[in-house]
Amino acid sequence: MKRTVSIPVDLPRERFLPLMNQCAEIFNAHVNWAIASSTYNKNKAHKELYHLLRVQFPSVPSALLQTVRDNALEAIKATKFKSIPKKKPTSGLRYDKRTMTLRGKQLTLSCIGKRVTLILDIPEYFQKVFETWDFCGATVTYTKNTKQFWVRLVFETEDPQHIEGQIQGIDRGLYHQAVTSNGQFFSSSKIRKVQRRYLYNRRKLQQKGTRSAKRRLKAMSGREKRFMKDTNHCVSKKLANQPGIAVFVLEDLSSIRTQRRGKKMNKWLGGWAFYQQEQFLAYKAEALGKRVVHQDPRYTSQKCNICKHIRRTNRHKSRFHCKNCGHRTHADLNAAKNVRDDYILSSTQGTEEQASVNMPYVSADSLG
Ligand SMILES: [Zn+2]
Repeated sequence: MKRTVSIPVDLPRERFLPLMNQCAEIFNAHVNWAIASSTYNKNKAHKELYHLLRVQFPSVPSALLQTVRDNALEAIKATKFKSIPKKKPTSGLRYDKRTMTLRGKQLTLSCIGKRVTLILDIPEYFQKVFETWDFCGATVTYTKNTKQFWVRLVFETEDPQHIEGQIQGIDRGLYHQAVTSNGQFFSSSKIRKVQRRYLYNRRKLQQKGTRSAKRRLKAMSGREKRFMKDTNHCVSKKLANQPGIAVFVLEDLSSIRTQRRGKKMNKWLGGWAFYQQEQFLAYKAEALGKRVVHQDPRYTSQKCNICKHIRRTNRHKSRFHCKNCGHRTHADLNAAKNVRDDYILSSTQGTEEQASVNMPYVSADSLG
C-alpha cells in the first residue's frame, strides 16, 4: 500500500517557475511526437527529440528532461492514445532517483542551476510512515492563488494481512460526525460551534476588506483547517481502533449528494472536511488490516431497520418512528444499521454458499 504526504516548502521561485514551464513544454513535445509517430517507445523518442530539446531548453538538467520524457510516454501508454495528456505551465514536476535524494529529512531537488536542498517539516501523524516505510518518489507542485510550493512524498510498504471480524455500519451527518451501527455517537456540536464562530468572524472581516483584514482572513482559514484536521484524526482513530471490527461500511459519497436532506447537508457532505474524515479512516483501518467499503445510501434514512418498511415520514429530524411496526429509535442509529445490513445483503447476493456463512450477521443485533 502507498501513502502520500504534502508538505509546504519554500523554493526559489525564479528557478522553479521557469523550470515547471519548460518541463511542461518538454512533456507536451513528447506527447505530440508520440501521437504523430504512433509510438511511445522511449528509445525512439530519445533518438529523435533529445538533442533538439537540449538545445531548445539548455538550462533544464539532462536527468530531469529524461524523467519528463518517461512520464509523458508512460502517460500515453497508460491510455493507449485514447486521451491526450497535456501539461500547463505550472503543472507539477515528478522527481525520481535520477533527479532527487532523500536522506533523513534532507531533500535535494534538481532544478535550473545547482540542486536545491530542503529540510522537510514532517507532520507528526506521518512520522511513523516517514521513518519506517520505503520512499518511492516525489512531486513538486505550485498553488497559484497562494504562491505556495508543495512537495508530495510517496511512501510504500507491504499490505498488512486482513484480519477477521465484525462488520460495522457508519452513518455520517450534520449533527454527528459518525454514528455506528452498535450505538456509538460522535457528536459534531463542537465542530458546528467553532465553524459558526469562524463564519461570523469571516463575514465581519470580509465587510472590512482592508489589506490587514485579508491577511487575518487567510490566517483564520489555516486555523480552521487545522482544527478540522485534528478533529478528523481523533474520530477516525477511535473508529479504526475499535476491537473486533474488521469492516467499516460507509455510505457512498458520490451518490449521497444528489439525494438526501437539503442544502446545508449537501454543502457539508461535499466539503473537504467530510472527505478528509473518510480518507483518514481508510488510512488508519488499512494499516490495521481492516477495510472500508461503500454502500449505496438509497433509503437508509427512511427504511425501518426492524421491518424494512420504507416511508419518508418514518424519519423526523433525529427521531425515527416506524409507521408500520411502531419501532422507535435514533434516526442516525437506524441509518447506520441499514448501511451495515444493506452491505451484507448486497455482498452475499453473489453466491449461496457465502450467503449461508454471512446471513446470521444480518439480523444479529449484537454485531457491530
Ligand atoms: Zn418497522
